[in-house]
Amino acid sequence: MDIKDLQRENIKTLKPYSTARDEYKGQASVFLDANENSFGSPLPANYNRYPDPLQLDLKDAISKIKGVPIENTFLGNGSDEAIDLLFRAFCNPGKDNVIVLPPTYGMYEVSANINDVELRKVDLLPNFQLDLEKIAETIDSNTKMIFICSPNNPTGNSIDRSDIETILANFKGLVIIDEAYINFARQKTFIQELTEYANLVVLQTFSKAWGLAALRLGMAFSSVPVIDILNKVKPPYNINQATQDLALAALANIKQVNDWIKVTVSERDRLSKALANLKIAQKVYPSDANFILAKVDDASAIYNLLVDKGIIVRDRSKVSLCEGCLRITVGTPTENDELISILEKL
Ligand SMILES: *Cc1c(COP(=O)(O)O)cnc(C)c1O
Repeated sequence: MDIKDLQRENIKTLKPYSTARDEYKGQASVFLDANENSFGSPLPANYNRYPDPLQLDLKDAISKIKGVPIENTFLGNGSDEAIDLLFRAFCNPGKDNVIVLPPTYGMYEVSANINDVELRKVDLLPNFQLDLEKIAETIDSNTKMIFICSPNNPTGNSIDRSDIETILANFKGLVIIDEAYINFARQKTFIQELTEYANLVVLQTFSKAWGLAALRLGMAFSSVPVIDILNKVKPPYNINQATQDLALAALANIKQVNDWIKVTVSERDRLSKALANLKIAQKVYPSDANFILAKVDDASAIYNLLVDKGIIVRDRSKVSLCEGCLRITVGTPTENDELISILEKL
């Protein structure tokens, strides 16, 4: 499979924007090439210079933690930007199609619709695993991408590894594995498989375990041809300097993040048990993420009751295969106690 043949023709022939930073890289003392403010910024820190378009210092630090070379790493303004760029680079509007596996993360569908790309849905099986037969029947010669969210949002389970490998080995388009919740999972990341499959794209994010949702920083790991295409299509300065600086500082604080992951996982298991013991509980699904899907009596009423108490969960009761379910993010121990004590009174 040649990745370059998957991209849109206009992208193949696109001459990307060339920044001042692309045209001169080196040690000079006077920069009069980018129409910046040469005096400085009205802030304690200076942000008057455009940031590194390829974020090499930040990628170097990420590479040391993830073990993925810089040339296999793309950074986006959230994973949501990487998802959108994949559509724009690889899918011809009105011609190509992509496959999603509901119930799943909503952005794949929104991005498909924004880009006028046909979306084909193959529901997960009742055990929230892949329906490989239906997926195979749904693929045609215009199917460019399959999105697999694992651990899946909103169901919380990991997708069986061997099923994902079956798709990776047989599908001739891109397989995007969204690992936003991988830090909380028992299953290991697919990053190790990048060297095996040129069509694999692994998405991860700083928005969940890393506690940096407001910075907007997502990662896409893939083969060099895919990464080169994403870099060609992205806005030149998609990751701002403040985000690059703060993410670098955060990476030096990995111990704090790992401690929070441990607490979150133990709180998830405690909260799951407490939810399962409630009178209103019908089913608490096992979770590999930092949230729990729970089927309860009259989900909408319980949602509203919690809102009245100042606690917001996600009402997923109208989502197909999640009928009657609430999605509850694991909070701090105090927050979880508060939630449990309210629900125990019902
Ligand atoms: C939260 C989430 C993301 C994160 O998106 P960002 O744009 O990086 O904040 C990605 N995928 C899934 C499945 C999510 O639930």
